[in-house]
Amino acid sequence: MNSQNSFKIVILGGGESGVGAALLAQAKGFDVFLSDKGALSEEYRSILHTHSIPFEEGQHTEERILAADEIIKSPGIPDKVPLIKKLCAQGTPIISEIEFASRYTKAKKIAITGSNGKTTTTLLTYHLLKSAGMNVGLAGNIGESFAKQVIDDTFDWFVLEQSSFQLDNMYDFKADVGVLLNITPDHLDRYEYTFQKYVDSKFRILQNMQPDDDFIYFVDNEAIAQELKKKSFNVNHLPISFLKKEMNGGFFHDGVLHLTRHPRTFDISADELPIKGPHNAINAMAATLAAMAVGLTDEQIKTGLLTFQNAAHRLEPVEKINGIQFINDSKATNVDSVFYALNSYDTPIIWIAGGLDKGNDYTQIESLVRQKVKALICLGKDNSKLLSFFTPIVPIVIETQDVKEAVQHALSLGQPNDVALLSPACASFDLFKNYEDRGDQFKATVRSFVP
Ligand code: ADP
Repeated sequence: MNSQNSFKIVILGGGESGVGAALLAQAKGFDVFLSDKGALSEEYRSILHTHSIPFEEGQHTEERILAADEIIKSPGIPDKVPLIKKLCAQGTPIISEIEFASRYTKAKKIAITGSNGKTTTTLLTYHLLKSAGMNVGLAGNIGESFAKQVIDDTFDWFVLEQSSFQLDNMYDFKADVGVLLNITPDHLDRYEYTFQKYVDSKFRILQNMQPDDDFIYFVDNEAIAQELKKKSFNVNHLPISFLKKEMNGGFFHDGVLHLTRHPRTFDISADELPIKGPHNAINAMAATLAAMAVGLTDEQIKTGLLTFQNAAHRLEPVEKINGIQFINDSKATNVDSVFYALNSYDTPIIWIAGGLDKGNDYTQIESLVRQKVKALICLGKDNSKLLSFFTPIVPIVIETQDVKEAVQHALSLGQPNDVALLSPACASFDLFKNYEDRGDQFKATVRSFVP
């Protein structure tokens, strides 16, 4: 064994990223211990057994954890839990799995963050590179852990989706291309209810980036624009805007995406893209600029854009019944994503919303709802906030806790050319296992009504 054998790494959290980190740490010869306060899944338990990696579940043995030389913390564990506070107080370094894994790869990295649109943009960027024949991996908040994939380190590029919680424990990580899609209030419970702290976390995407690295961002987003006025970053700026044509960057005008990364340009009409709506124009511009930074040809970019299929639960068309188009946008768990969902349709909308409220402020969508929503079906255990805000605004407001009833209401209220949109603005854990479960139940129910 090598000299790292005596360096103790403790991994907190035994999900995909924690188990991946454990495998990588063991492969690199560290003394590894994994601890999870909850239960591990059978799959992860068996991986740890197979690799003889010591672990515990259902508890944290403090003595052993506090003796670590370095901690790799799951993004799900908040800083305010007493164990993390103790570790911080005694000065034990705490890093994220992405930070740890980035020490062991030669690959170049495209890192993508934002309050909304991360998964879509990450999948699209990955698809562009992959369909162009690049040797590229996909990781971060998505799919297989980054750590596991760098054990063999066979890729030339990685496309990484990064949540703010992952960015929080990153220090030396450097993106070659950084993408910041938007910053709107979300997860504020983890940031002492201070928006600026959340903004600071998202801006960590820029840390360590060099002048010839590309920074792609949506400059019409107020929080991003404000922050860039306060601080300057010596990187290659590629802003994306709907309002202003930039010398370098993206401009969406008259239905056309115009991209410039000096000296190259690339244009495509939004109508040609399989992903719809103004928010997806932003995501597509970001992914295209990233692909231009990597050096893909126009032909490769165009082919990739036209053949992309987004993940489920994001403005996903389900069925048309009696002329009513049902859309599953179960992943819309905050108000900003509903704003974009409502903006994506020009026809009257029957809006199905509700669930666990994360401190929502509905003023952002008030006028859109007034203009477009003909009926609101509240699908949640406690709908009081939705009811009090929207009853004075929307002609018909109905409450239910049952997906089948929600779909039946939509069918009886709807007319040909209406859209019945599940875009909840809330988390799903009151009535469902998670947003996927909510979306799957919705789709299955809608399909059960197909004549
Ligand atoms: P994330 O991974 O950041 O949660 P997703 O791509 O899964 O993002 O999309 C989440 C929700 O946000 C979906 O309802 C989607 O329609 C909406 N959305 C996607 N892109 C954007 C964007 N650029 N701005 C605002 N909302 C978006």
